[in-house]
Amino acid sequence: MAYENRWDVLVIGAGLNGLTLANYLLKSGLKVMVLERRLESGGGLASEEPTITGFWHNTGHYVFDTINLLPFHKELDLEEVNISFVHPEVQSALPLGDGRALVIYKDLKRTLESVTTFSRKDAAAWQRLHRAASAEMPEFSGALLRQPPKPAPPKSGDLARLSLMSPREVLDEVFESEAVKSLILHHLLIPRGVAYDYSGTGHFVAFAIAQAGQGQLVHEGSHEMAQGMWTAILKRGGDIWDMTEVTQILVEKGRAVGVELMGGRRMYGRAVVSTIDPAGTFRLAGDRQVKPELLERVARFRPDEFSLFTVHLALKAPPRFQAAAVNPDVNQAYRYGIGLESVADHEALWGEVRSGELPTRVAMFVSFPSVHDPSQAVPGHHTALIWQVVPRHLRGRDWKNERQGYMATCIDRLRRYVPNLSHENIMGATAMTPDDMVAKWTNLAVGLFGGRNAGGQLGAFRPLPELAGYRTPIPGLYLAGASMPPGAGLSPAPAMACAEVLATDLKAKRWWAKH
Ligand SMILES: Cc1cc2nc3c(=O)[nH]c(=O)nc-3n(C[C@H](O)[C@H](O)[C@H](O)COP(=O)(O)OP(=O)(O)OC[C@H]3O[C@@H](n4cnc5c(N)ncnc54)[C@H](O)[C@@H]3O)c2cc1C
Repeated sequence: MAYENRWDVLVIGAGLNGLTLANYLLKSGLKVMVLERRLESGGGLASEEPTITGFWHNTGHYVFDTINLLPFHKELDLEEVNISFVHPEVQSALPLGDGRALVIYKDLKRTLESVTTFSRKDAAAWQRLHRAASAEMPEFSGALLRQPPKPAPPKSGDLARLSLMSPREVLDEVFESEAVKSLILHHLLIPRGVAYDYSGTGHFVAFAIAQAGQGQLVHEGSHEMAQGMWTAILKRGGDIWDMTEVTQILVEKGRAVGVELMGGRRMYGRAVVSTIDPAGTFRLAGDRQVKPELLERVARFRPDEFSLFTVHLALKAPPRFQAAAVNPDVNQAYRYGIGLESVADHEALWGEVRSGELPTRVAMFVSFPSVHDPSQAVPGHHTALIWQVVPRHLRGRDWKNERQGYMATCIDRLRRYVPNLSHENIMGATAMTPDDMVAKWTNLAVGLFGGRNAGGQLGAFRPLPELAGYRTPIPGLYLAGASMPPGAGLSPAPAMACAEVLATDLKAKRWWAKH
């Protein structure tokens, strides 16, 4: 019997957004097919064994710090398909060159105690902003998922004013300790993609403070999330095909009616949803299907200004930070900001990134996932993840010639903070350059975080005001990837919001609580 060829919705791409969207629509009773070009579903949700078998490294998406705002795991019953999160007690640390460390905890009281050791005034400011931002969170998270997306400037006078400023301006106004300012800037950069001087993102400072205790990792590795969602799609009667590249979006009489796959097979649907970037999507549909002015504007969508050089280590022993001599909790933190200890350090880093230089600045996001989830390493051993902030393209140099040397540099630099990261302790190491990542995850061409999270590309104006509603000028064609509102580091919010639009357009059941 020939396999059927007609669905309600065809989803292009099985990353976090595509997998989430498919599950929402299946629960609405729609017939859904997800098409993924890679060997395996998941996109950025990747856990792999590139160092030594048995050491599972999260090579893409790792930080989940908005689980409290985006209830997809509850609404999709993901616990039933073995998805759970680890929420470490010690959340974040900024170890300093002088041996001290600022430490952030799940428990606000403990965070305030740590901030107080740097500045009593800053602890009071932290508490004030935490209270103000937390009070607005229900409204804020509702706005993330609202349809059509609305600009959601914070309501309260103070936060509304901050939203017009850059993070640096806010931090310089509100805080005095460089360590406190720097730690917040680390949190803004990863995973929000916000740099210290992006205007109009000042309220993210309050957002980062309210969410500072919310960092979580997926138990058994990020890919477990993809695996569970994949299982849920099949259990709900959906279809999902890996190693299936969409080479064309079929448009008939101006309407998207289906897709063509590599090899020529055609599939038809009432709606086609692309989770790849807008320019790539319109290329698949054929550029003649939309007005040239729109294509020009889409082509001007600004990519992320930075990328990451990632290093993964298989370790014999867990990390022993120098700063643990002052506060032993440092060894237990979920995430570390390493190297940038003042606003001036951030400024210097961005100077290097923007001029395309291989950074001499240490500017790292570091984590040791197996400390929190032993299942991610061979029993008794550990994994390390190092993300150094770098330019996407190097001026006058080729990333492939830098891979080995820069990996050694990154490890050496981290060793200054973690002395037991010795050669004897490191059993295996591997690195990915920005080019390696784009080769693997093709739609990262616009950036790891879906395109710059700044200026006119923020929130409800993302990627362009006329596309921000998830519909495109081609009826039947929708967008739901990381280039869509609400923006970087907030996936799968684009999928959840797009589900709202599709429920309206396809007259399907809206079973979820009003977001
Ligand atoms: C190193 C790294 C670290 C990151 N860390 C974080 C983090 O900590 N927190 C965070 O929130 N975000 C993080 N991100 C970003 C995050 O991975 C993305 O925002 C997220 O994956 C977006 O999900 P998505 O489904 O939109 O896209 P993707 O995960 O990129 O999935 C899109 C899928 O579409 C597939 N595809 C592309 N073209 C086609 C085609 N023609 N036919 C069929 N399939 C196609 C791709 O193969 C891919 O699987 C990180 C990214 C990287 C690379």
